[in-house]
Amino acid sequence: MEKLIFGHKSPDTDTICSSLVLANLRTKLGDSVKACRLGEPNKETKYALDYLNVQAPQLICEVEKDQEVILVDHNEFSQSADGIKNAKIKMVVDHHRINDFETAEPLYYRAEPVGCTCTILYKMYKENNVEIDKTMAGLMLSAIISDTLLLKSPTKTVEDEKAVEELAKIAQIDYKEYGLEMLKAGTDLSDLSAEELISLDCKECSLNDKKAKIAQVNSADISVMLARKAEIEEAMKKDIEQNGVDLFVFVITDIIESNSQAIVLGKETSIFERAFGVALENDEAYLPGVVSRKKQILPPLQNNV
Ligand code: MN
Ligand code: MN
Repeated sequence: MEKLIFGHKSPDTDTICSSLVLANLRTKLGDSVKACRLGEPNKETKYALDYLNVQAPQLICEVEKDQEVILVDHNEFSQSADGIKNAKIKMVVDHHRINDFETAEPLYYRAEPVGCTCTILYKMYKENNVEIDKTMAGLMLSAIISDTLLLKSPTKTVEDEKAVEELAKIAQIDYKEYGLEMLKAGTDLSDLSAEELISLDCKECSLNDKKAKIAQVNSADISVMLARKAEIEEAMKKDIEQNGVDLFVFVITDIIESNSQAIVLGKETSIFERAFGVALENDEAYLPGVVSRKKQILPPLQNNV
């Protein structure tokens, strides 16, 4: 059976590139696989795919019962394809926490606390003695730049740095120049509605029995995004009501200065205030030095429920 490889909903560059790259590696190892995606690639990802002249993976919305699948860049079912609970997960390659993951059958599970799934994939090429071609190198490079904000995020490890060095050589790309252009391409969100803004890169998670959503957008100028605060809050409130969300955090991250501004709504905003030792002013808080949802936002929230 052909296995479907996909990353999380609201796909980011790592999710899209990881599905394409792992499909390439598994195919070279004789497996029958197909790269898929669960949503529209964002502008940053489109910039990378256009630059590298690569087609986006095929769009799917759900998986059939007993479909064999490979998950990349996520493992939480709430972030995965509809029907995932009844699919057969054969493999996971990921760099996120493991919260409530469960399967009926044994599987291959690879998790490493590195900055990007593609850093793990880069190592898997080496371990399997498979040559990395120029296009795959470009895809992996783009993903690592995206997830580590050009190696500036605290999620970055020496392994990510090493991978970037070598992948840039294979791809023949000046990664600093290319990376900044790619990140900037992702910050032009002017044509998105407020509803699209809050779901562009949104992760749902549970804080004990509370339902939280943390959405994040990259920005080259936070004030541009804050100018749309009223409509963003309206969209957040609607989502809170419709989906029973207890805490909604919308994070605007300045990719140049490495700071964030958060808009926080819901009946559990006190969790956020405790977590960051701040008092919200007009539903807002400034988070100096905070750029990583995974490492700097989610853990303090979990520790202060
Ligand atoms: Mn991701
Ligand atoms: Mn990732």
